[in-house]
Amino acid sequence: MQKIEGKSLAQGAVIGKIRFYSEAEYDIDEGDYDDSEYEIERFERAMDAVKEHKFALAEAAEANSDNEGAMVFVSHVALLEDRGLIRRVEDYISEMKKSAEFGVKVGFNDVADDIRNLPDPYIMRRSDDILELEREVLEELMGASRGISFGKEPYILAAYDLTASEVARIDRRYVLAIVMKEGNLNTHASILAKGLGIPCIIRAETLSPACDGSDAIVDGTNGLVFLKPDDETVRKYDEIMKENRKFADSLMRLKGKMTVTKDGHEVRLYANISNPYDIETVLENDATGIGLFRSDYLFLKDRDYPSEEEQYLSYRKVVEDMNPGSVVIRTVDIGSDKSVPYLQLPEEANPALGMRAIRISLTRKDFFKVQLRALLRASKFGNMRILFPMITSVSELKECKEILRECEEELHSEHQVIGNYLVGVMIETPASVLIADQLAAEADFLSVGTNDLTQFTLAIDRQNPNLDRFYDPHHPAIIEQIRMTIEAGHRHGCLVLICGELAGDLEVTETFMRMGVDGLSVNPQFVLPLRKKIREMDLS
Ligand code: PEP
Ligand code: MG
Repeated sequence: MQKIEGKSLAQGAVIGKIRFYSEAEYDIDEGDYDDSEYEIERFERAMDAVKEHKFALAEAAEANSDNEGAMVFVSHVALLEDRGLIRRVEDYISEMKKSAEFGVKVGFNDVADDIRNLPDPYIMRRSDDILELEREVLEELMGASRGISFGKEPYILAAYDLTASEVARIDRRYVLAIVMKEGNLNTHASILAKGLGIPCIIRAETLSPACDGSDAIVDGTNGLVFLKPDDETVRKYDEIMKENRKFADSLMRLKGKMTVTKDGHEVRLYANISNPYDIETVLENDATGIGLFRSDYLFLKDRDYPSEEEQYLSYRKVVEDMNPGSVVIRTVDIGSDKSVPYLQLPEEANPALGMRAIRISLTRKDFFKVQLRALLRASKFGNMRILFPMITSVSELKECKEILRECEEELHSEHQVIGNYLVGVMIETPASVLIADQLAAEADFLSVGTNDLTQFTLAIDRQNPNLDRFYDPHHPAIIEQIRMTIEAGHRHGCLVLICGELAGDLEVTETFMRMGVDGLSVNPQFVLPLRKKIREMDLS
């Protein structure tokens, strides 16, 4: 047995088989396929899709006057049209009776190897392009939202590190737990991972790809992994898992009960979600509504900007499924650590302080309007609240509202029905706290994002693992800003919610209750523990 120590991200214990994911590897079915024609057709379709995508990227680059960028994408298309490359893949498929995936993997690698051995350094470099294209064609063949997949047997997902978009594409039906060799507590990837409701560990430094296929126990509560556990450890964890189930059952008895202190202070408990399919867990855990739907997921999961129809269907599903409960949908907060290649954002030295969230929306008004139109169209199916992220000035909020009005007018002229909705502002920078009165005068509700508020108040990069010990959301400057926001909101009749990770931190629940917060929005799994804590509280 080998014990690996890491840092707890999400609690709970499981036993299962580890599968080690490394970005570069694909679970390829070699196949023994008689139907070569069909496999070749799949190959051609995947190539066409990648070429189409490259053309779109070239056009976007051109529109941004990035001619050099456009040339790169055009040259990728030329590589994909290379007869030698195509023939090599087709030969593997038809002569060796292999799958399209196998043909691409081996054919592209063969060509990359040939090129690497040429004397011309410029041509040599093209071998990297070929390998990049190989990945893209494989992704296309295996489904754009293929994500991380090791088949349909439940497994423990191990990885060096996962990006937010990789976590967004995890199929939770098959993943029992996550263990990362790297990772950081406050990144979006970690927040999304916590939302999956499975044990998670980060910084398991001695984890290695060699553990792939081993039986293991993951103890998310204590940040431990036991590889090839001995019988005694298995027996111990069987007991722990039994106790965990008992505790979870006892929490279930709080379903349908009010979230009120012994002396009668009530608060609403909402859930944070990042995926329309999270609703099931939200209902299971009896949240009053959704306090934060990070719509970013829709923008991270595919290779292109989601269409109005796709967004509309997702928003509609969430508001409809939660009705009459309210649903706060935050407009997209991409940029920073949530990179979306199709937006072609320039590299930045300080991305957390860069072109992100509302700044992208206000700069790319055409994209923003697609999202707002989808939200407005979905509003008639339930209780919709639209939330704008990273607002730092009243003029930004006014501009958002103006664009919202424009979209309303467009939809009215198309005879589309719009329901009632509220408009809210994320309070996640010291600037927004200091002008919370003015923002509250313009908004229907405020929602405090403690993750970014901590980052920007303490001037600490929430992504930097070396700064964890300085990243202190309990810092008096944060607590005081939350109090200021609640008071400012209430002066203007605004509801004030807290939706950052601190909202689920039981150590500060009483403080927030004494401040008179109206709602706490947390990972669905934290709703019932929070209700338990509040029902045991007496503020008198
Ligand atoms: C926050 O900053 O607290 C927040 C809820 O937003 P995100 O974590 O998505 O940046
Ligand atoms: Mg934030």
